[in-house]
Amino acid sequence: MTHTESAWAKINLTLDILGRRPDGYHEMKMVMQSIDLCDNLELSEREAPGTAVSSTLPYLPRDGGNIAAKAAEVFFAHLGRPAPGLDIHIRKQIPVCAGMAGGSSDAAAVLRLLRRHYAPSMLEEELEAVAAQVGSDVPYCVRGGTALARGRGEILTDLPPLPACYFAVCKPTFPISTPELFAQVRTRRLHCHPDTAGMISALEQGDLEGVAHRLYNVFEDVLPRKYAQVFEIKRSLLDLGAIAASMTGSGPTVFGLFRDEENARQAADALKAHFPASFFCKNVGRAV
Ligand code: ATP
Repeated sequence: MTHTESAWAKINLTLDILGRRPDGYHEMKMVMQSIDLCDNLELSEREAPGTAVSSTLPYLPRDGGNIAAKAAEVFFAHLGRPAPGLDIHIRKQIPVCAGMAGGSSDAAAVLRLLRRHYAPSMLEEELEAVAAQVGSDVPYCVRGGTALARGRGEILTDLPPLPACYFAVCKPTFPISTPELFAQVRTRRLHCHPDTAGMISALEQGDLEGVAHRLYNVFEDVLPRKYAQVFEIKRSLLDLGAIAASMTGSGPTVFGLFRDEENARQAADALKAHFPASFFCKNVGRAV
C-alpha cells in the first residue's frame, strides 16, 4: 500500500539573527509562511531492509544522505523499534538550495506520514521534538501555516493566517552558500532588524499593507555583491506591481507579495521568461 503526502515550501516574511549561541547555532527569530508550491511524497513498505529514496531529480541522495531517509531513521529510533523496509519517492517541485526548506519539508512530510501509520497517538509536540533532531526547519515544516520560529527555528508559536494575498516567487540560477552568509553576519555587524512585533500585530489586525511593509530578511544586508541579481529581481517584482518583495531564507529565491491574483500570475509569467524557476503561489494554512 502506498501512502501520499504533500510537502509545502516556506517563505520567510521576516528573518532575524539575534546572535551566536555557545553551541555554535545562531539564535533566530523568523515569521514563516507555507506556500502552495509543493513536493509530492509516496511512501510504501518493502521486503528489503533500510530506506531507499528515489526522486524526479537524479542528483539527490538516494540513501541516508537524503533528509527524507534521515527522518524515517530518527522516527523509528525514537519509537525504539526496528524500522521496516521503506521506499520513498519524491516528486520534486520545490527548487533545491533555494531558501524554501525543500529538503526539510520532505522530511516533515515523511514524519507526518509515519506518525499517521505507525504511531497515531503520538502528540504533535512529540512529533515536533523528533523533527528537531532531523533539522532546524523541520519542526516548522511539520506544522506549516503562519508561525513565529525562534531558537534554532524549533520554538514555534502559531500566528494568525495571512490576509488574502498572492505571491510571485523567483529563484535565480546561482546558489548561495548558507555558511557563507552566516560567516558574513559574524564579521559584519547587523545594524537593522525586522520589526517582528509589528509584523505580528499586522497579522493580528489582518493588515496586508502592514505585513507587506514589514517584510525583512537580514541576510539581504550582508549579501556579497556577486549576488546583486537578488536585488534586481526584487526591483522587477516591485515594477510588476508587488506591494513589497523580499529574499527568503538564505536565498537566492525572492518573492513579491501582491494584493491581486491576476497581477501576481502575470508577474510570475514575466519572470519565467528569464528565470525558469518562477512560480505563482498562494499561502496555505497548517498541515497538522
Ligand atoms: P533551507 O531553506 O532549509 O536552507 P534549501 O531550500 O536552501 O533549504 P534544500 O533544497 O532543502 O535547501 O537542500 C539543500 C541540500 O540538501 C542539497 O545539497 C541537497 O542535495 C540535499 N538534500 C538532501 N535531501 C534532500 C531533499 N529531499 N530535497 C532537497 N535536497 C535534499
